[in-house]
Amino acid sequence: MSEDSRYLCTSCYGGYVPHARWKLGYSTCLPCGEQKAKERKHTIVPMPKSNYIVVTDYSLLVGLNSSHKGGVR
Ligand SMILES: [Zn+2]
Repeated sequence: MSEDSRYLCTSCYGGYVPHARWKLGYSTCLPCGEQKAKERKHTIVPMPKSNYIVVTDYSLLVGLNSSHKGGVR
């Protein structure tokens, strides 16, 4: 059963929902989850350093990720 651990995204039908994510109640893949979050005006991203970053532009996050590739998780 290949669909045992993966679920097709109910938003784009092209991505898969990680099982752990599915168990949390999500039925969309990660990109669609971010897309949905983007549709709201602000996304609060809880940070391990006990502060919060208000993300208004997802591309900013992507830029941060790529510029810190291999560095900060
Ligand atoms: Zn999707």
